[in-house]
Amino acid sequence: MSSFLFKNISTAVTFDNKDRILEDIDILVVDNQIIAVGKDIKAEESTEKIDCKGCVALPGFVNTHHHLYQTLFRGIKEVQEKPLFPWLVGLYEFWKHLTPEAVYYGAMVGFSELLRTGCTTTADHHYLFPKNSSGELIDEQLKAASQIGIRFHATRGSMSFGRKGGGLPPDSVVQKEEEILLDSERLINKYHDNRKFAMQRIALAPCSPFSVSRELMVQSRDLARKKGVMLHTHLAETLDEEKFCLDKYGMRPVELMESLGWLGSDVWFAHVIHVNEKDMKLLKGAGAAHCPTSNMKLNSGICPTSELLKHGVKLGIAVDGSASNDGSNMWEEVRRTYLINHLKYGTAGLTAYQVLRMATRGGAELLGRDDIGIIERGKAADIVLFDLKDIAYAGCHDPLVALVTCGNTSLVKLTMVNGKVVVKDGRLMTINSDEICNQAHKLASNIVNTERSL
Ligand SMILES: [Zn+2]
Repeated sequence: MSSFLFKNISTAVTFDNKDRILEDIDILVVDNQIIAVGKDIKAEESTEKIDCKGCVALPGFVNTHHHLYQTLFRGIKEVQEKPLFPWLVGLYEFWKHLTPEAVYYGAMVGFSELLRTGCTTTADHHYLFPKNSSGELIDEQLKAASQIGIRFHATRGSMSFGRKGGGLPPDSVVQKEEEILLDSERLINKYHDNRKFAMQRIALAPCSPFSVSRELMVQSRDLARKKGVMLHTHLAETLDEEKFCLDKYGMRPVELMESLGWLGSDVWFAHVIHVNEKDMKLLKGAGAAHCPTSNMKLNSGICPTSELLKHGVKLGIAVDGSASNDGSNMWEEVRRTYLINHLKYGTAGLTAYQVLRMATRGGAELLGRDDIGIIERGKAADIVLFDLKDIAYAGCHDPLVALVTCGNTSLVKLTMVNGKVVVKDGRLMTINSDEICNQAHKLASNIVNTERSL
């Protein structure tokens, strides 16, 4: 049994049903759950005490969309300044050389940055399965997640439209639909854990409406609902996608999802930018992963975050994956969510509290979880500490505003996941970061040089 007592936390933002923000408070953790939140909690001699004076505690951030393998493809000069479709076409030429080892190290790089910036749970969307790889790439990600100690919602992505079928990717990275469904079922049977405090869950995630057939969307939906797992895909990210759906199906992207039975509380979408009033009504109860950095970099547009919230869409924040963001920094994503929301809505924009809620409990709800994202007795011990004694925060009168808008560093003082300290003073405790960094650089250079020398 392990136990920790967080002593004298200056501000604990609970995101509980009463929206309580507690001051000078203690939190007691035993094994993987929060046992008590209160003043002057007494603990056993053997309990590890952590002095939290001057710190803000949050339930860990929940990242709701990523493509971890892309951490190895940042700053590729051939595509760096391009919008989504030509950016994708250019990157597929590098991505087609992806190996299982690269998937493992790419995941480790992404997980490391997420954990160091306050994220305790992440989703990933892996849809690329080159024909020359072994195929069990998501198994590599799950192995990495378990070794580093992050809570992980892997999604079994898929692409079945290659260039021969009118799609964007080369034919060497798309799969047959029977193969996709068989591997989806294998992964659910092997890894999906629907219990409280689960560290690993699986969802099914065809890449986008323009990369698989309608039949595969329906078959994935049926398999997910039979097995009790969630559904995920990209949606309404660009006007090119809207035009594609109107030309090919005579429907807007959200209408297409409705026609496929792909709406409801077990579905979450990445981006959701180009939506009208009718679309937003249809999306009520489903989730939207807002990815501000990616949307800015690829010039995709601005997600109507405040309107989606008003329409009852479950909103989370996401770093998206990393070629379209260049980083996996969750704290920066929180700050950009606040800023871009204010760019769109001005004084009616979201408060720092609302943005932090979206990044924590909001993301948890989007992923169908009520056991994380809240600091409360009986919830998972996913806790992040930020030290506001740093000079970057000096002179700021509101700890929540300080967290969201101040500072030029985002490394947390401590990240605890499921009762284990994974990051301390910005340093990962569970892996050798230097080894991961060196291997990731080496593998990334090999892949990129292979393509450039062809
Ligand atoms: Zn994405």
